[in-house]
Amino acid sequence: MLQPIPKPAPARQDRSQGKVIGAVHDDAWPIFLYESVLEEILDYSEEDLTRELGGFLLGGVFEDQRPYIEIRHFLPAVDARSQAGSLTFTHETWSAMHRERDRRFPKDSVVGWHHTHPKFGIFLSAHDKFIHRNYFSEPWQVAMVVDPVGQEFGFFQWRGQEIEDCGFICVWGRPGGE
Ligand SMILES: [Zn+2]
Repeated sequence: MLQPIPKPAPARQDRSQGKVIGAVHDDAWPIFLYESVLEEILDYSEEDLTRELGGFLLGGVFEDQRPYIEIRHFLPAVDARSQAGSLTFTHETWSAMHRERDRRFPKDSVVGWHHTHPKFGIFLSAHDKFIHRNYFSEPWQVAMVVDPVGQEFGFFQWRGQEIEDCGFICVWGRPGGE
């Protein structure tokens, strides 16, 4: 399992650096997402409106008074199978992601996953929760669902033993150098 990256953090807890979207729970780790990465994810999500697409959220866990999650990059899932309204990451999906991450973003961890629900809206199905519980079980791993037809999206994160919907803080601009 990938570990979070221990390193000094930029002062992200200052929410004036971004815009709070949705309900950011006080008892869960705040999620910070760069605006440029959000746009990249939404653009990718619109590439196919007939089936579910998926991807990985890369970034780190940092600490500034309290821990928080920062989503710094996005990698589309290769060879993900979409059938009967659900998405499956294959062995090739995972190995391709690890190769790409090692090559392009070696300092980043997998802080979550993304998939689309064309026309179905924002929720986690039983199958989605199964994936989250089994492959994204760390408390700092989140799920993002995008409905590219309904033009909406949302996040889900661990709150104790439950996976619940949550808001995030959209940080202006794009991630800087390490
Ligand atoms: Zn789903």
